[in-house]
Amino acid sequence: MSAVLKLYNTLTREREVFAPIDSSRVRLYVCGPTVYDFAHIGNARPLIVFDVLYRLLREIYGWKHVKYVRNITDVDDKINARAAERGVSIRELTEGTNAIFQQDVSDLNCLPPDVQPRATEHIAEMIALVEKLIAAGHAYAADGHVLFDVPSMPDYGRLSRRSLDDMIAGARVDVAPYKRGEMDFVLWKPSKEGEPGWDSPWGFGRPGWHLECSAMSHKHLGEVFDIHGGGIDLVFPHHENEIAQTRCAFGHDVMANVWMHNGFLQVEGEKMSKSLGNFITIHELLHEEKFGGRSWKGEVLRLAMLRSAYRQPIDWTVKALEEAEKVLSRWYALLRESKAKPGVLPELFLEALCDDLNTPKAIAELHALAGAGEADQLLRAANLLGLLHDDPAAWDAKTSADIDVAAVEKLIAERLAARRAKNFAESDRLRDVLVGMGVKLMDAKNKQTGELETSWEVG
Ligand SMILES: [Zn+2]
Repeated sequence: MSAVLKLYNTLTREREVFAPIDSSRVRLYVCGPTVYDFAHIGNARPLIVFDVLYRLLREIYGWKHVKYVRNITDVDDKINARAAERGVSIRELTEGTNAIFQQDVSDLNCLPPDVQPRATEHIAEMIALVEKLIAAGHAYAADGHVLFDVPSMPDYGRLSRRSLDDMIAGARVDVAPYKRGEMDFVLWKPSKEGEPGWDSPWGFGRPGWHLECSAMSHKHLGEVFDIHGGGIDLVFPHHENEIAQTRCAFGHDVMANVWMHNGFLQVEGEKMSKSLGNFITIHELLHEEKFGGRSWKGEVLRLAMLRSAYRQPIDWTVKALEEAEKVLSRWYALLRESKAKPGVLPELFLEALCDDLNTPKAIAELHALAGAGEADQLLRAANLLGLLHDDPAAWDAKTSADIDVAAVEKLIAERLAARRAKNFAESDRLRDVLVGMGVKLMDAKNKQTGELETSWEVG
């Protein structure tokens, strides 16, 4: 293989040739979900992006030589609040949410990581890490809390390139009496009765948010590992604090050599938020008629996501999903006609992916292969992106089976009512929704009644 893997490193702000610490044991850590509610489509982005990276690393170094760890945060104040709201136990909430999460990521064709450590199963490791930090003079216990002493680390803020003075100036005033410095963050805090907690040298309590990733990456990947990934929103404070904990506990210059962050996602040009009503979960996209009036296959979501380079912001639109679906239909048709078997991996495609996961360029190569009728190479290359794994013969059948007949009939009735009311803008809109669902409409006048009638088929 001649392609050289280059990755953009947030730590150095440079695109660098990737050189693993040990090429027989390439190690990747990605921050996983807090399992208190359905994962939203913004959460799907790192899942898909780092799955592509995982697949690429396995391709280059061999599948046995890559270890991918993605944690599950199952102790968090959001979890406590949600469980109380619903009147269920914390375990019930986290188990149920995690089961849905695992199904969602599998529907998005993401490979399971090698380890998915849970925070609640690593409390002993977290306590040991806190003890190490206290012993080294980087943390202090006060009032049932343990805090990380930020000024004890001279280059705190290196990843986000913020100076301590700027951070203090911009910080919300949070002068808890047990804090020595404004930026000091919680490693351990006391639990009240009814809150989840564990016995510790500092009393009954629970870990702060950042601690688990340092403890679990250390346990499963070692003191220094190759790549740490996550969404851009995690750079500060989460990743900065992970770095502080790990480096100060083990005395290395870095926690991970390469830090990778995917860009933001917005929906139809707007920031996704519950108040704007455009908040959309992976589960709703896959199973409900909520986005564009229909459900979508995981593979469609995946291709739509990969059409943008991972560091760029992405605009999540119905149109982009429709386009992705059409592309997949064409590719599956080619696989069907040519009875494709995975061929050799095309060099230009691999070069594109090795260029800091340039997935738009890689997808352009897939189009070129499809255009040239190179079905075997198309299949092999698309598989590396986690695409075209389905049975080509089943693709169309599955699409039509996914159509909700009752929903189609209802939309057609609404469209006819809009036409009768001469609200043509609305009837056109409903027609577009139906076409987007893959429905072909046929309008005809009933000769006896003179009324317009519409029949339909899956087109
Ligand atoms: Zn983390």
